[in-house]
Amino acid sequence: MADYLTTNDTHILQDGLAAKEIFAAGEGFTYSDIIILPGYIDFTPDQVNLKSPLTKKITLGAPLVSSPMDTVTEAEMAISMALCGGIGIVHHNCSIEFQAEEIKKVKRYKHGFINNPIVLSPKHTVADVRELKKKHGFGGIPITDDGKLGGELLGIVTSRDISLVDTDDDLEKRELNTVMTKFESLVIARSGITLEEANKILETSKKGKLPIINTKNQLVALISRTDLKKAKNFPNASKDNNKQLLVGAAVGTRLDDRKRLKALVDAGVDVIVIDSSQGNSIYQIDFIKEIKTKYSDDELQVIGGNVVTVMQAKNLIEAGVDALRIGMGCGSICTTQEVMAVGRPQATAVYKVAEYARHFNVPIIADGGIQSIGHIIRALALGASTVMMGSLLAGTNEAPGEYYSLEGVRVKKYRGMGSMEAMSRKDAGGSASNRYFHGKQDNIKIIQGVSGHIVDRGTVLGYLPYIICGLRHSCQDIGVRSLVELRKSMYNGDIRFEKRSTSAQNEGKVHSLHSYENSSLF
Ligand code: GDP
Ligand code: 5GP
Repeated sequence: MADYLTTNDTHILQDGLAAKEIFAAGEGFTYSDIIILPGYIDFTPDQVNLKSPLTKKITLGAPLVSSPMDTVTEAEMAISMALCGGIGIVHHNCSIEFQAEEIKKVKRYKHGFINNPIVLSPKHTVADVRELKKKHGFGGIPITDDGKLGGELLGIVTSRDISLVDTDDDLEKRELNTVMTKFESLVIARSGITLEEANKILETSKKGKLPIINTKNQLVALISRTDLKKAKNFPNASKDNNKQLLVGAAVGTRLDDRKRLKALVDAGVDVIVIDSSQGNSIYQIDFIKEIKTKYSDDELQVIGGNVVTVMQAKNLIEAGVDALRIGMGCGSICTTQEVMAVGRPQATAVYKVAEYARHFNVPIIADGGIQSIGHIIRALALGASTVMMGSLLAGTNEAPGEYYSLEGVRVKKYRGMGSMEAMSRKDAGGSASNRYFHGKQDNIKIIQGVSGHIVDRGTVLGYLPYIICGLRHSCQDIGVRSLVELRKSMYNGDIRFEKRSTSAQNEGKVHSLHSYENSSLF
């Protein structure tokens, strides 16, 4: 009989199941159906390495991607995602020009510099400045001859300049050239200045704003002292070889998307997501091959999808994709599985496709259905290299759209790209509806998504570090020091899983209390 105290026999010691065994039965599992058994801890959470490949050529410091949806990712979100080690994929439910400009904003971004400041002309009035202050919360406005960035800098108006102007109607109508601090008395800096140098100038001059101008005195950026005071370092930021932030963009598969792709590449995009809810199509396969012939792997990486089966993945891998996006019908705003009866539960989809794609070194992005840190770690533990999130990021400051109040709660809009509202967007050029249709543009649109409201989550710059810290703790509990080790230990069967019954899932939630407070960010 085995000595139970000294044995190393895995048959005795190892309980739970390997991922391979869990998924062998052919049942479709969601993330919540599965739990990971704890391992052995001999390291601290800060020793956990969260580096993970987004594509064959791009590795991220944190496995987090923001979804190409028009209520989730434009430049501001993409900048914050990249600063925290992830990446944002700018949506294409907009004109080509708009999308390319968002990519340029990310590539131009320099930490601490406001590259797109709000500017007024000398003909604007004190009332205009007060209106902007009410809307955006800041009152330091550079004044240029044409009222635009790139115009000749003539002065600056700050809260101090207008504080003495009474709210009396006539005075409010005063033009800014009568109240602004004029160019001659401004402290300015020339483009090319470093953040450290700017910091010194602001400290010695005790000014709040530092306009940056070029040799023709045209305004190119603005630096705010408030930002420098709270300037954080982002040692993990995702950057290209020129030290510019990494950014992705989504495109469709239509003829017009060839033009869109060219504009995005010219704008400096690093990775393209071919955005389709069912990616296994001749349109996508042809487009991938076309892109792969035109651009080298170093110039542009291509993410294909969405797929949920091995057969779908095979076709896109053969066409040459650098990564695959997995998910069909699991998104929070999505009704595809109900309406079309097609899709796959996400945990199974991720495991099955990842298990196949790893033999070709093609990383997997688990897209949709992520509701918590626990879901992210499950996706990664089932073979995904990164996760793509919509609802988790949609309520943050950096998501497009304004906050509004709904029954006393501060919310933002979040909508599926297959919702009627997104597909009807006027300036979109039909991009969202393309994702959900092929062939001729139908007059009848089958709705595959809903439009809703999502609670304010504050800034992504506070929220992502919370997620990242949670992931490190989770890896510690599992007993792995890196995401590479997490995947390896899953495939060799060291990480053990169990299926959770419905009552087990309920047991895992808060229960038996009359009421409680939850101060977690989820
Ligand atoms: P102000 O003195 O009223 O302009 O406000 P603060 O300097 O205290 O705060 C301005 C904040 O808004 C800083 O964090 C800026 O980075 C941010 N900000 C974003 N866009 C703009 C912009 O277009 N102009 C200005 N002045 N600030 C901006
Ligand atoms: P979430 O993170 O909110 O659960 O899911 C976001 C993902 O849902 C997106 O990345 C995208 O793949 C998918 N998605 C976005 N809009 C729609 C839609 O209208 N219908 C469907 N079926 N999926 C959508």
